[in-house]
Amino acid sequence: MTGLSVEDLSVTYGGRRPVEAVRSVSLEVAAGETVALLGPSGCGKSSLLSAVVGIISPAGGRVLWEGADVTHTPVHKRGFGMVFQDGQLFPHRTVARNVGFGLEMAGLDRGARAERVAELLELVGLEGLGERPVTELSGGQRQRVALARSLAPRPRLLALDEPLSALDAELRGRLAVDVRDILTASGTTALVVTHDPAEAEVMASRVLRMRDGELVP
Ligand code: ADP
Ligand code: MG
Repeated sequence: MTGLSVEDLSVTYGGRRPVEAVRSVSLEVAAGETVALLGPSGCGKSSLLSAVVGIISPAGGRVLWEGADVTHTPVHKRGFGMVFQDGQLFPHRTVARNVGFGLEMAGLDRGARAERVAELLELVGLEGLGERPVTELSGGQRQRVALARSLAPRPRLLALDEPLSALDAELRGRLAVDVRDILTASGTTALVVTHDPAEAEVMASRVLRMRDGELVP
């Protein structure tokens, strides 16, 4: 098996009344494939994605990449990237310095960084906007920056958590097509979460439905 395997993954939130947000979910995403997780608000999509990426620890189960267990590998050593609903850009950085952030962290020199950033800006259709402050972008442009930033370090898996839901309906439809094309062009393996069936169909080659913390068979 190449790509991602999730085996019997469970996520529980503690507290006085513990919530079993994800219950024994198993799924696979083949290398180069985009799979969508579709389900209503509160069904456990973000919890599942966060456990896969390593932002939260699962209560049980395993996450494997190419057969190697990464369940307890720290998030920054997993080689997985994540795109959030609201982009979470650094407001005081330009477009280029947002896109180059992960490359800076990885210690790439200035020249190599500039080259990779230019590549990514072209990929997401933002050529020439590198020096623009991110505060002067439209919502759609901001999500393109978020996508470019997460792809820059060449993640082996990209997790996208409702990447378009902060945008208006018309823009969402167009950007869903672009996201699919960008993921395909970059050969990225991806797991994308959405509550919108049309969006799931456009972005992914396969759609898995989730309800009450479980995959619908
Ligand atoms: P979705 O992304 O599908 O909307 P979530 O994964 O965010 O669903 O939430 C699944 C369930 O877990 C919900 O019942 C939610 O209230 C609960 N939950 C999510 N995050 C936390 C948290 N940090 N602490 C306690 N409960 C949480
Ligand atoms: Mg969510």
